[in-house]
Amino acid sequence: MIVEVKKRGINKSLTVFLSMIVILTCIILFTGFLILNFRTFLSEQTRESVYLEKSTLLSELSLYLKKIEYSLLESKLVSSYLIETSTPKELSDSYMNSKIKLNSDIHKIHVSPNNDSIRSHWFLTAKKANGRIAFTTPYYDSSSNKTLIDFSTNVYNNKGYDIGVVAHSLYLDRLAREVQKHQKSPEHQIYLLDYSKNLIISTGHKIDEADLSKYWDKIFSYSILFTIDNGFYIFFTPIFEKNFVLISKMPIRSFYATTNFFFNKSFIIPAAIFIAVIILVSIFVIWLMGREQRKKERIEVESLTDPLTKVFNRRYFDNIIESKFIKMKAAQKPISLLMADIDLFKQCNDTYGHSAGDKVLSNVANVLMKYARREDDFVTRLGGEEFGILLIGTHKEDAIIIAENIRKDVWKTETQIDGISTPLSVTVSIGVASLIPQKEHSFHMLYETADKLLYKAKESGRNQVCY
Ligand code: GH3
Ligand code: MG
Ligand code: MG
Repeated sequence: MIVEVKKRGINKSLTVFLSMIVILTCIILFTGFLILNFRTFLSEQTRESVYLEKSTLLSELSLYLKKIEYSLLESKLVSSYLIETSTPKELSDSYMNSKIKLNSDIHKIHVSPNNDSIRSHWFLTAKKANGRIAFTTPYYDSSSNKTLIDFSTNVYNNKGYDIGVVAHSLYLDRLAREVQKHQKSPEHQIYLLDYSKNLIISTGHKIDEADLSKYWDKIFSYSILFTIDNGFYIFFTPIFEKNFVLISKMPIRSFYATTNFFFNKSFIIPAAIFIAVIILVSIFVIWLMGREQRKKERIEVESLTDPLTKVFNRRYFDNIIESKFIKMKAAQKPISLLMADIDLFKQCNDTYGHSAGDKVLSNVANVLMKYARREDDFVTRLGGEEFGILLIGTHKEDAIIIAENIRKDVWKTETQIDGISTPLSVTVSIGVASLIPQKEHSFHMLYETADKLLYKAKESGRNQVCY
């Protein structure tokens, strides 16, 4: 009987399926996670002998250097000044449309070059640079109490006329902070030099002059150049339109630590959080689904059971019976229906009251349930004090024995009622119908036979089995 209810839980298998998917995903992710860590371990152990293809190395290096360059460009390093000549509006429009995209607020200080002695050198530098961006060497600015580099460039209008100069001040302390963000280990050195080999920024040690002179000539002919020297990688790259040179001298081991992007903390921690979130969300969803499922099942079970006796109700009986009968017809197995009715139950009600009757009814149902032993057997309340016991695969001889046992069992069952000294006991009359369904048979025939035999049992004096 319980199995019937279980069988209806189709969505239960969906929950199991989803749980399996989630568990599998987690296993795959964790396995990947472990493999990655294991590879890190291996690469740490054998880093000296790790062979990295040249092309891979180059692309990783260029990626690394590009990251620094982007970071410098994107950061708010500069305070900008706009210097105009004759047509300020045109100049600012052109500037806005120009390729120089430095992330800064533009303070429009309009200065005529002839009248401003402090900044007039920008014009001169810009003129000399002839279209490129020109930089001054670092200098101390007493008004801001900072060391700066100024850089400037000419701006041309649509017709190609030189209409003015834009200039920016770049704060070296901010630039240094930005560069330092990329330092991967204490031994990792980063230098920023201008075109004239002036050292602008350095992390850690002083730049090795020998390294510099060895490679300087090549820096501007290659976009990226690297060499491996005494366990160090040295990368050179011109940046900011080749006005500066970025040099990164990194021990091989810290290079592996930085190039193994997937193995470092910045990957592992978010990955672990991601996996944890997935697991938690999945558990929550499964729990929600399970709750919904249990609710649905409870409602379904409730709609098919009799609230008083807890056996299946008539609705269930009507729904299920045809399919059971067809199954037995196909399998050529017997099917038996015991129809049991409590004798003179009206008297019981009239004498002891309706609630006493209810208690008796429920006890009789309990007795009946003990005899629906097989997986497909079940008891149903057909109406009032009448029950059907369906025994699937049970031959008539066995069904009669069971009916007889039920009758005796009910008879000896006593129901204790509050306020009544002697316990109540009732009897049942039972009609037993049984057949191995043939083509011409229908369940209705079995039902009718059981009903008639029950009537016969009543007619014959009650508390007996007719077959
Ligand atoms: P018979 O031996 O011929 O079956 O006599 P009977 O009194 O059992 O049959 P009858 O059909 O005359 O009366 C059935 C009674 O069962 C009437 C009704 O009060 C009672 N009954 C039906 N359903 C319930 C129920 O849910 N609770 C209670 N307490 N009584 C019920
Ligand atoms: Mg009755
Ligand atoms: Mg009746």
